[in-house]
Amino acid sequence: MKKSMNDCLFCKISKKETPADVVFENGEVVAFKDINPKARVHLLFVLKKHIDSVAVLEDSDEELVGKLIFAARDMAKKENLSGYKLVFNVGRTGGQIIDHIHLHLLAD
Ligand code: AMP
Ligand code: ZN
Repeated sequence: MKKSMNDCLFCKISKKETPADVVFENGEVVAFKDINPKARVHLLFVLKKHIDSVAVLEDSDEELVGKLIFAARDMAKKENLSGYKLVFNVGRTGGQIIDHIHLHLLAD
């Protein structure tokens, strides 16, 4: 059975019901350190709205999802990162483990 949003880890983190190392927050986005970093800097940018993945984005989400990219870009600039990767994993075979849309920011 599909997990309900109430059981969603990233919903819980964005509602402060589960602790995380939060580094940025605005009205739509929360960003926190990945618990298992795969680079020197590894942050996750999460929408406060629950959406399973990029695969199920609706036309009305177009502006909202752009906020993830802008938040990550602004954080990279603030941290003086000269280069970085922004990654959306989509679906199990695309490496997605957590079914709540998130953008990885990775930099060495
Ligand atoms: P993905 O494979 O794209 O679904 O990425 C999920 C990411 O969430 C992985 O890089 C995990 O290390 C990370 N992660 C899992 N649980 C937590 C947590 N409690 N706090 C922070 N990051 C987490
Ligand atoms: Zn969620």
